[in-house]
Amino acid sequence: MAQKYRFLDTTLRDGEQTPGVSLIPEDKLLIAQKLDALGVDVIEAGSAPISEGERKAIKMIARAGLKAEICSFVRAVKSDVDFALKCDVDSVHLVVPVSDLHIKQKLKKSRGEVARTSIEVAEYAKKHGLLVEFSAEDASRADFEFVKDMYASAKKVAKRICFCDTVGVLTPDKTKEIFSSLQKLDIPASFHGHDDFGLATANSVAALLSGASQVHVTINGIGERAGNASLEEVVMALETLHGIRTGISKKELYPLSRLVARLTKVHVAPNKAIVGDNAFSHESGIHVHGIAKNAMTYEPIPPEIVGRTRRFVFGKHTGRTSVELALKEMKLKASAEQTDEILRRVKALGDKGLKVTDADLQSIAEAVMQIPKTPKVKLMDFAVVSGKQITPTASVKLNINGNDVLEAGTGVGPVDAAIGAVKRAMEGVEDIELVEYHVDAITGGTNAVVEVIVKLAKGDKVITSKGVREDIILASVEAVVEGINRLI
Ligand code: MN
Repeated sequence: MAQKYRFLDTTLRDGEQTPGVSLIPEDKLLIAQKLDALGVDVIEAGSAPISEGERKAIKMIARAGLKAEICSFVRAVKSDVDFALKCDVDSVHLVVPVSDLHIKQKLKKSRGEVARTSIEVAEYAKKHGLLVEFSAEDASRADFEFVKDMYASAKKVAKRICFCDTVGVLTPDKTKEIFSSLQKLDIPASFHGHDDFGLATANSVAALLSGASQVHVTINGIGERAGNASLEEVVMALETLHGIRTGISKKELYPLSRLVARLTKVHVAPNKAIVGDNAFSHESGIHVHGIAKNAMTYEPIPPEIVGRTRRFVFGKHTGRTSVELALKEMKLKASAEQTDEILRRVKALGDKGLKVTDADLQSIAEAVMQIPKTPKVKLMDFAVVSGKQITPTASVKLNINGNDVLEAGTGVGPVDAAIGAVKRAMEGVEDIELVEYHVDAITGGTNAVVEVIVKLAKGDKVITSKGVREDIILASVEAVVEGINRLI
């Protein structure tokens, strides 16, 4: 089936309203460019009235020559529309509270007053050349007849109407009833769903399948409280479960998810659908055994579709097949007895509650197979200076293939400076990228043992390694050096 559904991405507006998130204009522009390349139809770039910086960001996005329609959130207030006009946007997402709870408690107005002023403001926006998406806030808790009456009056001015499940209380069944009824109004209808009960994706899909032409989504499902419907989930559910082509370039879903997580500093839960760390990871012996025969046994879609790769994780649930696959990858030929011994040691580490990284597995294998370990890169020494008034600076001495290399680096903190210095020392020798850095305190207190786990990449090859020390900087540097040795 060809594309018939539209996506309004609100990562930069509702997503940015995630508690604690604030993006600088350059970051917002970068995300907008990626969203445009992904193929979303509308980018809600922000809320023009809120600040000078916000307007700067919206204006930069509006002027970036993107294919998508660029939109600003506004309230039904003329001055809000004026702010949007200053940002050169194509459209406004004009939000009108419609539940009595909002009208009486928040606005202290009557239904009549709200209906009248909102239409006036919509006309004002249209008169100034803006497309209007007329949005009913908290519509799912409002009198549906009143909401429909408002939509009917908005029809003359608005390009689209939008039904907001502001606090996420709809179910797919109710959503279906609502959109079947709204179809009779004969105006493009949009759905804005929240995930307070984990139903945002299901409700968004239900809305589209019963008459809505557009849904509001965010990358990683970020947004107010429990967040919004997630773009990647809605797209993949439509494509995979309903056989509908969305026009979204699915291979870019994972890279964009990582970018948004990094810039917003909102971590993605490991068990999050499609983009979570574990969405395509396998540890259990039974599952890995199945996957090795045919990946479809324990995966609904191949990870490559969304720009990811499959990952096998080692621990107490690991089976023989995982170890065999990993050894093959490392180009190590172990005998049956050696493989059993490697598996036994991996499980023993898992039983102690320890994370077994790729590097751990390789050192276990080398120990069991009695392969002499000659690291190409050795950490000879390092020093770090940090303080309140000075830029954190580190120097490291590495021995690379028998030659001593001394390098220095600065950073936002001592760990960043130290890792920066290691990366510099490796420059020109190997092109290695630090993909992820994660630190856990194993025990409590400031004298805790810390475990640093890093994910490093060289081309397509990605590996994890760790450093465990009481000194967080030493643990970090050792994790990186260990990882480098495993990659080269
Ligand atoms: Mn919202």
